[in-house]
Amino acid sequence: MSESWTLLKLLRWTTGFFREKGIDNPRLDAELLIASVLELDRVGLYLNYDRPLVADELARIRPLVKRRAQHEPLQYLLGKTEFWSLDFKVSPAVLIPRADTEILLEEALEKATESGELLDIGTGSGAIAISFAHEKEHWQVAGLDISTAALEIAQGNALRHALASRCTFMAGDLACLPERAYDLVVSNPPYISTSEYETLMPEVREYEPAQALLAGEEGLDCYRLLAAQVEKVLKPGGWLLLEIGFRQQHAVTDLLVKAGLTEIYCRQDYAGNPRVVGGRRAF
Ligand code: GLN
Repeated sequence: MSESWTLLKLLRWTTGFFREKGIDNPRLDAELLIASVLELDRVGLYLNYDRPLVADELARIRPLVKRRAQHEPLQYLLGKTEFWSLDFKVSPAVLIPRADTEILLEEALEKATESGELLDIGTGSGAIAISFAHEKEHWQVAGLDISTAALEIAQGNALRHALASRCTFMAGDLACLPERAYDLVVSNPPYISTSEYETLMPEVREYEPAQALLAGEEGLDCYRLLAAQVEKVLKPGGWLLLEIGFRQQHAVTDLLVKAGLTEIYCRQDYAGNPRVVGGRRAF
């Protein structure tokens, strides 16, 4: 990168470099990275193609380009991502919220009555809990996580969306959930098996927190722990909604049946894969 480069030339060079390094969306990532350093949106970028870049700008862009080329996730480099059309701060302390998880949120919103209390187990960035609170103004939400670094991010996200008064974040272990029952319990827990973990793309395997992904040999450990505690955390008539991996529908359904839940169902994502399993505690 030399100082005589224009924005368009830099964009093209970065795109080619990313492509060479096997980055999935090289042009898009190049645009988003450069736009963020220059504090432009993507339209602003297109309108400034001929603009020459000064040395200081290049010096700030260069290390980010290098890190992305090494497969560090774009969201960590930008420090944020979008979920449910809301901006969330993210850091390597939290899993990057996925678009697929919006299905879990849709189900939660659909099951929610006028008012109540929701518990989000393994809240991470708080994306599910905070988006739910954003939509349901008469609900109180609680997010639980074992990672205090994650809880700090979640708390910051609640403040950012002016929802801190209805969002509580607490440290806790899935193996020993709080002695308190909720109207609605949701979780996108770790569900990757040991063998599957090895096959994940480097962005995930090398940069996202393993603690947020791994769940034992079959990827079912967290569901087992959750199923064992449904009576404690769910009020009678309350729903438990779980995101699952695409091969886990039957195993998780079984666990919920054995836990005594009723009205058990599975919802697919937009790619047609089973994505959410839900069940209800009988009245
Ligand atoms: N609840 C958060 C999310 O869905 C974090 C999930 C996790 O860390 N397993 O993004």
